[in-house]
Amino acid sequence: MTFLAEPRGFVPAAFDVYVKTLHWLAWRPKYVVLHNSAEPNLAQWAHFGAGPVNGLQRVKNLNAYYKGIGWHSGPHLFVAPDFVWLACDLRADGVHASCYNHESIGVEMVGDYSSEPFDSGDGAKVRANTVAALASLHRALGLSPETIRFHKECVADHHDCPGKNVSKADMIARVAEAMEAAHA
Ligand SMILES: [Zn+2]
Repeated sequence: MTFLAEPRGFVPAAFDVYVKTLHWLAWRPKYVVLHNSAEPNLAQWAHFGAGPVNGLQRVKNLNAYYKGIGWHSGPHLFVAPDFVWLACDLRADGVHASCYNHESIGVEMVGDYSSEPFDSGDGAKVRANTVAALASLHRALGLSPETIRFHKECVADHHDCPGKNVSKADMIARVAEAMEAAHA
């Protein structure tokens, strides 16, 4: 089990500090797989209430759900408009995409980007937090953002995730830019 009993919410700068403390010894991810949660979508997430207390409860509920269906782990991160939530230990494999579980970190962006906008409002906040979190992970792991995969590339899962409003080329470019900015 790699579910965190107490998931942790980070603002991006604090997540970067945290990631720098990690050492991947037994398991080392080769790339990051991006998802959107679909349910909850952004409207449902906002309805539940923003902020650290509500977000923590929400991520605990998600972990409890995955545990309940017998998974040993779930997606590693849930990225909300306000916080990057660490749900499962980043130093062990997760469960999020059948083709990629054993060699990737799974990042769930809160929202349903088949219908909700990714370039304005809460969607743009999720995008900015995701780009920052991915830049931190790619730097710590020495990975190129070109290695980012989308869940929908795992054809076996038949899951159109993340939705069409998320462009892979755009995300790669944004993560690369964030990595360069941090390096400068
Ligand atoms: Zn997915």
